[in-house]
Amino acid sequence: MSLDISVLHPLTGKSIPVWIANFVLMDYGSGAVMAVPAHDDRDYDFAKKYDLEIKSVIKPKKGDLPLDKAFTETGILFDSGEFDGLASKKSQGTIMHHFDTNGLGKKVINFKLKDWGVSRQRYWGAPLPFIHCEDCGLVMEKKENLPVALPDDIEITGEGNPLDHHPTWKHCKCSQCGKDAIRETDTMDTFVQSSWYFLRYTASPAIWEDKAFDSKELDYWMGVDHYIGGIEHAILHLLYARFFTKVMRDLGYVNQDEPFEHLLTQGMVLKDGTKMSKSKGNTVDPDALVEKYGADTARLFILFAAPPTQELEWNDQAVEGAFKFLKRFADRSKNAYACDVLPSIKHDELSKSEKAARKKVYEALVRANEVFAQRHTFNTLIAGVMEAMNALNEQDNADVWTEGYWIIASIIEPIVPHLAWEVSDKLFNRKNLSEQVVLEEVFTVDTVMLGVSINGKNRTQIEVSPSASKEEIISMAKDAGAKWLEGFTIVKEIVVPNKLVNLVVK
Ligand SMILES: [Zn+2]
Repeated sequence: MSLDISVLHPLTGKSIPVWIANFVLMDYGSGAVMAVPAHDDRDYDFAKKYDLEIKSVIKPKKGDLPLDKAFTETGILFDSGEFDGLASKKSQGTIMHHFDTNGLGKKVINFKLKDWGVSRQRYWGAPLPFIHCEDCGLVMEKKENLPVALPDDIEITGEGNPLDHHPTWKHCKCSQCGKDAIRETDTMDTFVQSSWYFLRYTASPAIWEDKAFDSKELDYWMGVDHYIGGIEHAILHLLYARFFTKVMRDLGYVNQDEPFEHLLTQGMVLKDGTKMSKSKGNTVDPDALVEKYGADTARLFILFAAPPTQELEWNDQAVEGAFKFLKRFADRSKNAYACDVLPSIKHDELSKSEKAARKKVYEALVRANEVFAQRHTFNTLIAGVMEAMNALNEQDNADVWTEGYWIIASIIEPIVPHLAWEVSDKLFNRKNLSEQVVLEEVFTVDTVMLGVSINGKNRTQIEVSPSASKEEIISMAKDAGAKWLEGFTIVKEIVVPNKLVNLVVK
């Protein structure tokens, strides 16, 4: 219905009628909204029905405005004063800024959170510590009786609340008057516990008697460095966990603003293209896999098959491949010798292919540092380790082998702990296993490849030392390009450092 009042448009100063309508949601903002019949379907229907002015201010980037319905897509502002020509999406921020700087209004965030009934009629949950007394009403359990423990002789029948049916558990004394009373049999939604369990995990047993957690221990352990879970928990659980943390911060129990530093939502494991499920019969029994190949193979296969954030297709052949790699890795331990510290190697004195193998090993180490600290793409790390192993296989320098094998054992220890432990226990000093230093000398470049072109046409390549002089480079280029230069005179020599040599002839 129409009210006999009007309001002023904050930007144009024009008078706008005020209507009451049932399609405006009471809990949306203040409950009073600005209707835009030209650009909202419900507002359009309302304006049509009550014969209100329909004023268009957004037009399509191409084509004309529709005549018989609202234009609800994004477009370009027109008939909008100083905002003419702005993209409608972008104009939201611009107009908000105008409101803000001219004292016409300010941006607010509307939370669409609703009240949350946390009680459940289930056995598995933390009991609500309340007592129903005929005289005193609903009262809290006494502090010294907390926590209220669940009975361990429960009968689950599938009907009703098992705690309610337990013969004795709910009968207790009123915490205020001491008369016979009834304990609350509802338990809390498990979401309540999962919203703050990580805080409790920080508590050492020494404080369990007195409190749930201790601020010193919290400061040491929180926030959680890496939080790993399924995507199905990425919205509600995280929202609740942050909410609980902030409430406990406001109450002075914790110092942390946020519970988790990093989140990794892992992908699903698929078999034959579909999600594994018992009813489809396409599940894989990890026990059988562990029994046949060992836990290391299972771990290596899973981490090598895909980055952890993506879906993983189970592939029995790839399991076999992972097993073979580990078997080879174990066999090759005979190429390395036992030592307490890494062999000291004079890099300059190595052959070209020994240098290349060493470089592969250290590249794998650099990648390992990145992957464990940040990227979590364990599949690329394992690929790097395999490359390094292949490069090592072509060498017979025992020092290069031993150094490479030691470093690789330390890189893969978190992935295949049993095997890595075994070889390093046999050969190396495990105290030195975990931290490896990246030797920069391994990455120094011995030679660079330069293209040789003649009259701009790419003819051949030369390999030169990075410190070679211009004269040396040109002389090498002339030798390499001799057969194209025969019968011509060189008129110009151009050297583009680290890239190419161009000889202009006629
Ligand atoms: Zn009472």
